[in-house]
Amino acid sequence: MNDESVSDAGGDFIRDIVTADLASGKHKSVVTRFPPEPNGYLHLGHAKSICLNFGIAEEFGGHCSLRFDDTNPTKEEQEYIDAIERDVRWLGYDWGSHLHFASDYFEQLYVWAQHLIRAGKAYIDDQTQEEIRLTRGTLTEPGQNSPFRERSVDENLDLFTRMRAGEYPNGARVLRAKIDMTSGNINLRDPVLYRILHAHHPRTGDKWCIYPSYDFAHGQSDAIEHVTHSICTLEFADHRPLYDWCIENLPVPSRPRQYEFARLNVTHTLLSKRVLTELVRGGHVSGWDDPRMPTLAGLQRRGVPAEALREFVKRIGVAKSNSTVDIGMFDFVVRETLNKTAPRRMAVLRPLKVVIENYPEGQIEQLDAVNHPEMPSLGTRQIPFGRELYIEHDDFMENPPKKFFRLAPGREVRLRYGYFITCRDVIKSAAGDVVELRCTYDPETRGGNAPDGRKVKGTIHWVSAAHGVPAEVRIYNLLFTAPQPDATNFAEQVNPASLEVVNAIVEPALTGADEAGAMQFERQGYFCRDRDSTPGKLVFNRTVGLRDTWAKVASEG
Ligand code: ATP
Ligand code: MG
Repeated sequence: MNDESVSDAGGDFIRDIVTADLASGKHKSVVTRFPPEPNGYLHLGHAKSICLNFGIAEEFGGHCSLRFDDTNPTKEEQEYIDAIERDVRWLGYDWGSHLHFASDYFEQLYVWAQHLIRAGKAYIDDQTQEEIRLTRGTLTEPGQNSPFRERSVDENLDLFTRMRAGEYPNGARVLRAKIDMTSGNINLRDPVLYRILHAHHPRTGDKWCIYPSYDFAHGQSDAIEHVTHSICTLEFADHRPLYDWCIENLPVPSRPRQYEFARLNVTHTLLSKRVLTELVRGGHVSGWDDPRMPTLAGLQRRGVPAEALREFVKRIGVAKSNSTVDIGMFDFVVRETLNKTAPRRMAVLRPLKVVIENYPEGQIEQLDAVNHPEMPSLGTRQIPFGRELYIEHDDFMENPPKKFFRLAPGREVRLRYGYFITCRDVIKSAAGDVVELRCTYDPETRGGNAPDGRKVKGTIHWVSAAHGVPAEVRIYNLLFTAPQPDATNFAEQVNPASLEVVNAIVEPALTGADEAGAMQFERQGYFCRDRDSTPGKLVFNRTVGLRDTWAKVASEG
């Protein structure tokens, strides 16, 4: 992505392998691929795989393809293909001309299946799926040969042709590799290579009614694309002998090698397309891009910059054994990234009215506010100040404990960029709720300092009541409060308080057309404008709060 990433090359076992293969001349250049199945949107776990595959290609001057593993038409949709392309681009990667689909290779794969049949290495099995399962054996017992295992090559070829021609219903027959029913690796006990599926495919339409299995399509697709390093997650390690068997027994144009790394797991988060699909279908969230979802679309909508995702992936590294990353670490990186450039603004999320009794009615002053404390180049802006303001309800307490330094009856605080005010009176509703504060200000304290040198401990943010703009603010909390949610009954564990909607008052600058990016609402967190905003109604999403929970987690060790 930039020159820095070149010097970052190395540092994980896959990059070490690539470095060695290029140094030894085994490969002249590196080719990787990211191979999603288009049966859902991409999530945080996929980001790890994308950054790894595209990152390696970039660092070593090779290329990475985007290959859709579209071999299961009953679950795959064009919507997902489009979303995956969008999300990979958003993350900052480009496959150039290397956009591929396993379905582009269906004809070639079919020819290679015939090749195996002719070599006596594949056969048509008429057993049902259940019978095949029952005769597969277990981890401790060998499987049993199928009664159809010794069919002649001619009969196998004929049946395979008729399977393709659509003569049989779903499940009537399969093509299996003829390897070893006693193998210690269950994946080598005559795995299924083709199954009958009368289903419309998003790209090949009704052309096919037999589809290759993942194991038969994947390695051969890699070989067709001259992939050098086929990088996948650990659960495929047991499939590698089958991957290699296919490559060895077929006249493929190249010999890719498979390497496995640990998948990303994150606390309070379920990274599985099955679960995410059910969250969407079950109406637990508003859609794939609901900002509570760990999908790339959801994170983007919540305001997480792609840069933060890439940085997060870089920090967690690539390892060979599975582990779980604390969600606090993700928030930490997001916060750190946003802090660098997000302009500061003032917004009152839970407004409490303040009337400054000694401030002249109708008078307005413009106060100078800095846009970013560490970036003078972002300049300053003027914010209107008047007799009536809103402050945060939480910044007032009628009976404050000792360590509360904000507003309370008789107490003085500093208004950010403004004056000192003192609370003189508390007005309550009939129900006893505090609804308004009557205060006075000290005109000598403009700019936040008292000429007599007296100090105040608290500084609070505020918005002028006459100028403030109402806005809906959506605050996102954990979708699962359990650190390790259970993927089987996740629906019961969805946090009912995962979305809080508050009616805020924001400073008028936030209505500006160029205020759509990330910003910090002072003392609150990082926010971005949601696309649900209309000219008449602003909607903001909280990307992440300001509080650094990761520091706490880290120190607790
Ligand atoms: P899921 O388990 O969420 O359903 P999947 O593995 O079925 O995901 P694919 O579309 O097959 O999804 O994944 C594309 C690539 O992304 C694969 O190479 C897979 O190994 C990788 N990948 C998926 N989940 C993770 C994860 N949590 N961490 C790292 N890589 C992942
Ligand atoms: Mg998969």
